[in-house]
Amino acid sequence: MINKYKKIVIKIGSSSIINESNKKIKTSWLNSICKDIAFLHRTKKIIVVCSGAIALGSKIINNKKFLQRLEDKQAAAAIGQIELANHWQQTLKKNKINSAQILLTLNDSEVRRHYLNVRKTINALHKKNIIPIINENDTVATEEIRYGDNDRLASRVAQMIDADLLILLSDVDGLYTDNPLKNKKAKKIQNIYNIDSNIEKMASKNYSLIGSGGMETKILAAKICMNAGCSTIITNSDKKNPLKNINKNNSTLFHANKSPKSNRKQWILNHLHPSGSIILDTGAIRAIKNNKSLLPAGVTEIKGRFNRGDVISIVNNQNKKFGIGVIAYSSSDAKKIIGKNSKEIKRILGYEGRDELIHKDDLVKINS
Ligand code: GLU
Repeated sequence: MINKYKKIVIKIGSSSIINESNKKIKTSWLNSICKDIAFLHRTKKIIVVCSGAIALGSKIINNKKFLQRLEDKQAAAAIGQIELANHWQQTLKKNKINSAQILLTLNDSEVRRHYLNVRKTINALHKKNIIPIINENDTVATEEIRYGDNDRLASRVAQMIDADLLILLSDVDGLYTDNPLKNKKAKKIQNIYNIDSNIEKMASKNYSLIGSGGMETKILAAKICMNAGCSTIITNSDKKNPLKNINKNNSTLFHANKSPKSNRKQWILNHLHPSGSIILDTGAIRAIKNNKSLLPAGVTEIKGRFNRGDVISIVNNQNKKFGIGVIAYSSSDAKKIIGKNSKEIKRILGYEGRDELIHKDDLVKINS
């Protein structure tokens, strides 16, 4: 099923690689997946996003209790990450493959300069046939600046480097119509072409998954990827040769959108934490729907604090989001010019700014 793809991000959850009872690496599973990776590596570019640092480190911090405090989790990650990376390095080395470690925070995909740097680093590693092993930089990522789960991190990485496939290895075979543990009649879906509210509802019922992600974050990850022209497979990691043996019976395939947006528009669209929002009147909403730029005249309210160049949400007065874009003014300047004609900007702010609050090249519509 994965033969036709060329650049593959493989996301491995903690429950796949760490033994729940003794918090140790499942070495025979790691050996087996590294053999699959070695096979794929001959003809494809591979990126691994692997969780497990916190679980591994927790046996040294406190083996008995589930870690509650953020600083304990961060300390556990600092301990566990070195062990995790070491295992990957050694096991890939046995297969004659070099690896590299990359630790990312949310900022690295939200700030355009960081985003481009990560892209360049991964491309440089691939040119040398080195496999990047990625995790969230848990020791510096506090609550408000976290991805929180590696499903979203993996989807942002896939989008960042123009991957054509994301594989989410999990503890279920795919998305079911209902919770498979509770409803015997629940059926696994093989192919998904569009994530609508029906699919999202199903995902919220599949709550039996272990780990921080769960089915809902997997669907969100698949959505980010589909928009970026990258397909996503959800499959069970608990099989021999977990990649080689993926087939339509043990997976769900989310098909990539055929006409993906430009890389810059994807970067805007897939922002996980917009810095604020602006509320529009109906005339401005119509203009946006007709692919026009957003002028200050059609804005009725500004929410949140943001700087010029930040990504913000565009909503109507019922808080329904129908766009996202890069704003040309800070929130304090924007507040002064909303409802005004663009010709008045210089007089009000004392400098000549852009006529548009958000230029149409910096704006992505959300169909809802
Ligand atoms: N970064 C976390 C870890 O390595 C895992 C987050 C997740 O599994 O979603 O433990």
